[in-house]
Amino acid sequence: MKYNDVISHEQPDSGLHEECGVFGMYDFDGKDVASSIYYGLFALQHRGQESCGIAVCDTEGPKGKVDSFKGMGLVNEVFTHENLAKLHGNLGVGHVRYSTAGASTRENAQPLVLNYVKGTLALAHNGNLINANELRNDLAYTGAIFQTTIDSEVIAYHIARERLKTKSVQEAVLEACQKIKGAYSLVVASPRKLIGARDPFGFKPLVIGKRDNAYIITSETCALETLDAEFVRDVEPGEVVTITADGIASDRTMCLQAKEQARCIFEYIYFARPDSHIDGISVYNSRILAGKFLAIDSPVDADLVVGVPESGNAAALGYAMQSNIPYGTAFIKNGYVGRTFIKPQQSSRESAVRIKLNVLKEAVAGKRVVMIDDSIVRGTTSDRIVNMLKEAGAKEVHVRISSPPFLWPCYFGTDIPEREQLIAYNRTVEEIRQIIQADSLGYLKVERLEELVGGLSICKGCFTGKYPLDPPKEDIRGEFDR
Ligand code: SF4
Repeated sequence: MKYNDVISHEQPDSGLHEECGVFGMYDFDGKDVASSIYYGLFALQHRGQESCGIAVCDTEGPKGKVDSFKGMGLVNEVFTHENLAKLHGNLGVGHVRYSTAGASTRENAQPLVLNYVKGTLALAHNGNLINANELRNDLAYTGAIFQTTIDSEVIAYHIARERLKTKSVQEAVLEACQKIKGAYSLVVASPRKLIGARDPFGFKPLVIGKRDNAYIITSETCALETLDAEFVRDVEPGEVVTITADGIASDRTMCLQAKEQARCIFEYIYFARPDSHIDGISVYNSRILAGKFLAIDSPVDADLVVGVPESGNAAALGYAMQSNIPYGTAFIKNGYVGRTFIKPQQSSRESAVRIKLNVLKEAVAGKRVVMIDDSIVRGTTSDRIVNMLKEAGAKEVHVRISSPPFLWPCYFGTDIPEREQLIAYNRTVEEIRQIIQADSLGYLKVERLEELVGGLSICKGCFTGKYPLDPPKEDIRGEFDR
């Protein structure tokens, strides 16, 4: 076998991928923040496993000096004692990435560090812009030279340009945010300030935390818990927050009415860690609720309820609580699948699903099993998992999905394939059931989605085709890499 035949940079599954996590920290006592950012990124690893990076500066030091390190791979693969020890500064940002726009290369890893006449900016971004191509062209025709193919560089350029006209960097961030359209949660370290911005729809989460005399702005509250930091509050959709030695300043110029906001419901169903809270709602509780609704709307006689790890587990528990069918564990997951995992060849006896998941025969043999998963994308994984349960002796396998069927693409950062590749496109639930060889199949109803999040306003475009803002006319994903 040739070497380049066997090394794959793909994850060994065909499911959905979360796209990025951001983490910023400013320590007013002047302590180095790089190691805390490292642990924060480690807690956000589920949001992106392709690349990661940290950039820090000293707020008392020279304005143009930023220490940064980034690379391809998991946080604990990229960072070592040695390279972390070289990152000195009490203000910094970090990033974990999965690419939905822009290729998976080291140049596209974040944070981006930009030197310009007013000093240095380090920026980390989560989300996809829908007008990045137009903005990139405008900049290119006025002389900008891009070093990456990611949206984040377009944002960084706009901030730098606006900064030439504004009195402060936070005003420049606000001006830039008013030009960009789509999903973004940003953290920016300017030489003396930490700035966080969340798009007006609030697609992606962003929270503020505090530990001793240091402030944190990050994607999820689970990263605050890891650092033993207290949760201060969510950054509101449309809000720009600026953290300086004087405290937190807020600008709400871009904020919309609550009913116009559009949080990505998939953060609750799948992306976020269950121990996180987003806009006051526990991710764990919303998954439990999804399971309860499935038990009410799609009941079945069975002996055991199991979840496909990890995100199916809480929904399975909810189903069991509501139905009084015992909850159990059917799958043992091998979580040590890194970026350079050697993907099995098509012809190989090993399947990517089996390498990740094993079935506990003792738990399922002779039983009628309800299997809860968070989504079905192409259907290939579900079909294999149902098969594995049956091979292990399950008498019946009833599949329940804690989201509605995917029918439309996402333009805001979730890696949903073309419509034609979605199993639910142009098929009835019964047809899908037959393909995945389940004994019955039930999806969460679209009408239930708001109830999962206490009535908060959400985006459900990938289920309904109705998006909170007009989608681009063409597929914008990876445009600059084609
Ligand atoms: S289209 Fe779907 S995946 Fe994309 S932001 Fe909306 S709810 Fe999330």
